[in-house]
Amino acid sequence: MSEPVNTFSQFGLAAPILQAIGDIGYEAPSPIQAASIPPLLEGRDLLGQAQTGTGKTAAFALPLLHRIDLSQLKVQALVLTPTRELAIQVAEAMQTYARHLPGFHILPVYGGQGMGAQLRQLHRGVHVVVGTPGRVMDHLRRETLVLDQLQVLVLDEADEMLNMGFLEDVEWILGHTPPQRQIALFSATMPRAIQQVARRHLREPVEIKIAAKTATVETIRQRYWQVSGLHKLDALTRILEVEDFDAMLIFVRTKTETVELSEKLEARGYASAALNGDINQIQREQTVDKLKRGAIDIIVATDVAARGLDVERISHVINYDIPYDTEAYVHRIGRTGRAGRKGEAILFVAPRERRMLQAIERATRQPIEPMVLPTREAVTDKRIARFKQLIAETLESQALEPLERLVEGFQAESDVGMSEIAAALAYLVQRERPLWMEEQAAPERRERAPRHEGERPARERAPRHEDERSRRTPTTPEAGMVRYRIEVGRSHGVLPKHIVGAIANEANLNSRNIGRIELYDDHSTVDLPEGLPVPTLQHLRKVWIMGRQINLAREGEHAPARDAASRRPRARSADHDGERRPQAPRRADTGKPRPRAPGKAGPKKKR
Ligand code: AMP
Repeated sequence: MSEPVNTFSQFGLAAPILQAIGDIGYEAPSPIQAASIPPLLEGRDLLGQAQTGTGKTAAFALPLLHRIDLSQLKVQALVLTPTRELAIQVAEAMQTYARHLPGFHILPVYGGQGMGAQLRQLHRGVHVVVGTPGRVMDHLRRETLVLDQLQVLVLDEADEMLNMGFLEDVEWILGHTPPQRQIALFSATMPRAIQQVARRHLREPVEIKIAAKTATVETIRQRYWQVSGLHKLDALTRILEVEDFDAMLIFVRTKTETVELSEKLEARGYASAALNGDINQIQREQTVDKLKRGAIDIIVATDVAARGLDVERISHVINYDIPYDTEAYVHRIGRTGRAGRKGEAILFVAPRERRMLQAIERATRQPIEPMVLPTREAVTDKRIARFKQLIAETLESQALEPLERLVEGFQAESDVGMSEIAAALAYLVQRERPLWMEEQAAPERRERAPRHEGERPARERAPRHEDERSRRTPTTPEAGMVRYRIEVGRSHGVLPKHIVGAIANEANLNSRNIGRIELYDDHSTVDLPEGLPVPTLQHLRKVWIMGRQINLAREGEHAPARDAASRRPRARSADHDGERRPQAPRRADTGKPRPRAPGKAGPKKKR
């Protein structure tokens, strides 16, 4: 086998491919990539035992792309996958790796999809076809897919193809490929039937199995969260709010993600820094030193960057992205529980990564407990407890006499109770970061990290405006927005444009900053930027629309009871009613403070 490779540039891959890898932010080849790419580039057949999540797509895709002759618009590579989802994912991944290869064409083909578009594209010519066995057979029979120029055949998740009863089809397809083609067969397990296929069709294959080392990690409590119902970032922030941690190390896959996630955590008030292979030694030492001193509490790192990190304070390791292999997992969680201390390891597992979870459990010979995410109530309780503690500490440590006199003076002038004044002050303190946790939006679809940084596939992109059918249940406001209720609804003849016009005008708010509007029978809701000045909100309460005072108030803080039927939105939102929103007539300077734009709320307090 070839020597171990630590960088992608060592493989001798074509420059446009390296450029794409650089864009995506992969730092170093994963073990399966380091082992597979060199023999595949040499043209050898390969038998690889690898699970999903190990980076096996790039392991076969990169050498395959390197070998494509772009000037020949003929099918030079065929990838067989068990499912249409995998076919689409692999095609998207390859398209991303090929983003700098001019004129590169790839086509996913699978059953259930109309033949017309596939036929047209096959006729026009493609370099790579990724497909499920049934549909590939169809095209071969019709001779709409011709494999006489085929160089490479990849069998991806061969054991799944076996489980789904596709093995005969796969053999049939193998029989329709030219004899000199290279074959790469990947399978998470190697049942006898797959070994037989390999023996029959592969020529002196390089066999790769990423060995899982075991290690005892007894002082570390290991838990996993099955990604569902919440975005990973929301789950992480709940954990951050509720877990008692000293310092935390969070693992992600790419350099780009280290920076992005660290920035998001900073925006939420956590002292955090990114650590990745682009960061030079001096900076790295400074960051690690900050963590040791407590100047920061969180480091978001890639595997490579966290190598050798030894900071006693690290009480928690979060595997935000699942590691490639069990060895990496053991190494990651070993960054906590240092010097005989106890440590906590939490692993986020997407549904399709469950096999890796099982592999880790097998390799470490320890079960990993499922964890239930802290509920919103738990987060709220924790916030309230911290708030009370803050009051107690402030009473203890600060000289408050001048402020006491101020408050007493105010009480005498205004004739309100001390508890009301205290409540108003408490409101001001917690306004930027409410004590009561808002409901968080569920992921648009099943939660799965985009396969490639910055490349969320088009079909998974959240539609800016969903269609009416998908909006039957009430939604939650976007980050940076607050949902308000107004007492005018469909039965009063209101249209979204009336609401936009009135609010934009009266709040001196650009209509672009007015978010989703939902109309109900007797009321409506409107999303407005967080942190609107109190006078503006007070003014908005008294605004009239369709002859009714709207009585704007934060949703949920309203007296009128609402039954389930009246909660169901009946109309489209202002965003997609097909009409252009009227540009709000600008008032001359009202002397009112300008409301803040969404997301520009003031800095939040750390923890
Ligand atoms: P796969 O096993 O091919 O499904 O890949 C799993 C995930 O790992 C995908 O999101 C890839 O984008 C990512 N990935 C693959 N190779 C690397 C690498 N060398 N560095 C970082 N992430 C990678």
